[in-house]
Amino acid sequence: MTASVASSPAHTTDPMVPRRYVITHVRQDTRDTFTLLLDPVDGPPLEFRAGQFTMLHAFGVGEVPISISGDPRSPAPLEHTIRNVGAVTRALVEAAPGTEVGVRGPFGTSWDVDDAEGRDVVFVTGGIGLAPLRPAILDVLSHRERYGKVLLLYGSRTPDDILYGHEMHRWADLNDVNLQMTVDNAPYGYKGKVGFVTELVTRAGFDPRNAFAFVCGPEVMMRSAATSLVSRGIPKDRIRLSMERSMKCGVGLCGHCQLRELFICVDGPVLGYDRLEPLMAVRQL
Ligand SMILES: Cc1cc2nc3c(=O)[nH]c(=O)nc-3n(C[C@H](O)[C@H](O)[C@H](O)COP(=O)(O)OP(=O)(O)OC[C@H]3O[C@@H](n4cnc5c(N)ncnc54)[C@H](O)[C@@H]3O)c2cc1C
Repeated sequence: MTASVASSPAHTTDPMVPRRYVITHVRQDTRDTFTLLLDPVDGPPLEFRAGQFTMLHAFGVGEVPISISGDPRSPAPLEHTIRNVGAVTRALVEAAPGTEVGVRGPFGTSWDVDDAEGRDVVFVTGGIGLAPLRPAILDVLSHRERYGKVLLLYGSRTPDDILYGHEMHRWADLNDVNLQMTVDNAPYGYKGKVGFVTELVTRAGFDPRNAFAFVCGPEVMMRSAATSLVSRGIPKDRIRLSMERSMKCGVGLCGHCQLRELFICVDGPVLGYDRLEPLMAVRQL
């Protein structure tokens, strides 16, 4: 039996009507970040592309955009990795298995990692930014032979904030991924690298003339990572970023996520740096 009840039709294709899902498992990843596994109450699993997000509805509390962090090749259970920052995210991460939530989507653009085939691939990410990138990384690793070098440059605030630590090491060991990690702050005696993730970009071993980069993290980090990648020689149209703006409808109607001529919910969240660079100066309202 489920813990709460939504009055949505059995299965709908209306993008404004949430589908009913049940939380089957909640995994604590770090102090404030949790991964929720969801199964549909009825209907087929949600097909999605790497980089897309859903609007997750905690009934009686509210709805928030959250990227899908699971593997697009196996869409069930549906995975979301969520940092507890406010009312809705708290309600979601504190919900017990068996609780029903609403899911709208999937929405937005994809990382389209196939465009990087034949090239070196550089993933640059910070903190929970690894969650929206995870489906793209899994996509690349499922066809590892189609790519050149694969680098994962990851930064977190402290060693305790490192997300998917074991999995990142498994990718490095089993899939020939060049993993480099750094933390902003470390306790006395910490043996790993300390510094910002953008410093890793400067020395990373890839061929800029034949590389493609995918970047996700706090906006300030993405801006400086993109600047470093460009100064290493990667063209702007071969750098993709995932933007976050507050959003409500997810389908380009309400205008909450407007960034000049773009609606991030439909034109993004994943966009090329050639398009985004002039817009990244616009602060979120
Ligand atoms: C396309 C997209 C994908 C996202 N993917 C994820 C994800 O995979 N995992 C995840 O944990 N979060 C993700 N977010 C951010 C998430 O939507 C917000 O953290 C959430 O809306 C906060 O809602 P709340 O009610 O819990 O907190 P609120 O009470 O609304 O806000 C609490 C604090 O969080 C800040 N905040 C609110 N919205 C955002 C935002 N969009 N970005 C950064 N800070 C915000 C507020 O300024 C405030 O300081 C994504 C956002 C977008 C637009």
